[in-house]
Amino acid sequence: MKIIDGKACALQIKGEIAQEVESIKMRGLRPPQLAIILVGNREDSLSYVRSKANTCRSLGMECQTHLLPDDTPEADLYALVDSLNHDAYVDAILIQLPLPDHYDSARILDSIDYRKDADGLHLMNVGLLHLGEPYVMPCTPKGILTLLSTNGIEVAGRHAVVIGRSQLVGEPTAQLLIRKNATVTLCHSHTRNLPELTRLADIVITAAGHPGLLKPEDLKEGAVLIDVAINRTEEGLVGDVYSPATCEALDKRLSAATPVPGGVGPMTIAMLMNNVLDMYKMGSRE
Ligand code: NAD
Repeated sequence: MKIIDGKACALQIKGEIAQEVESIKMRGLRPPQLAIILVGNREDSLSYVRSKANTCRSLGMECQTHLLPDDTPEADLYALVDSLNHDAYVDAILIQLPLPDHYDSARILDSIDYRKDADGLHLMNVGLLHLGEPYVMPCTPKGILTLLSTNGIEVAGRHAVVIGRSQLVGEPTAQLLIRKNATVTLCHSHTRNLPELTRLADIVITAAGHPGLLKPEDLKEGAVLIDVAINRTEEGLVGDVYSPATCEALDKRLSAATPVPGGVGPMTIAMLMNNVLDMYKMGSRE
């Protein structure tokens, strides 16, 4: 089984971004800039924001972070988004999710100018993706598609089973695969007899967040597994299928798989950086 190395792929993509940013600066132009908004003080969200901001700066891009208390009035949040929408030096805006429960997350995400929507979650961007003309793609699905293509895994004409239908991962991944001419089955928590479906699939993409969701024998021999899930267990970080307990059996059965950790995870942040650079370039053409 080929290990699909997301860490190495992400490193290469970030290297290319850093080079491009360097050449932008050499031409005397300003670097791309990302603005991140975090409301509340969830430890995991704080650490994601820190890591995104550090990566952005390490590639030569600028990043401003706005850390707001979780009782920030919704009107203040809209005012901040509005000022960033109109700031010509800000190319991309990211609102760290989840927002505290008392906010209307969908409405706040839709208040971002869709041309600055770093995560591709604005209604306009969701619509464009469904039409096959994405302005910006959500980071994890874009990372998955990039891993498949850079590892020479053919998608057209093949049967892909995607497990999970979230707006962040499963749903847009299924849409992108359809656009790449795969035959897609989208499964979710109401799906019956999941293994019957996965045994027919050439490519299985799991994003359910359930360790042990499938056993190695639930996958077709020679299939490709993209395990998106990140589950914290006593064994450490494991996927929905990939874990220290299953990797040997998977190795014998599959043609390729993403490990957890080190598979899709590192690609998500690399694709975010890629979106920031793309938005900078698209913005400066207008
Ligand atoms: P979510 O909770 O929003 O969605 C989970 C989806 O899985 C739902 O559509 C649900 O119907 C489906 N599901 C749950 N249990 C199921 C079951 N037993 N059978 C079939 N379907 C089932 O989660 P999400 O935000 O989409 O994230 C999913 C997983 O991916 C999580 O483990 C998360 O940590 C991980 N994730 C990883 C990355 C990355 O960069 N690698 C990025 C985002 C999310």
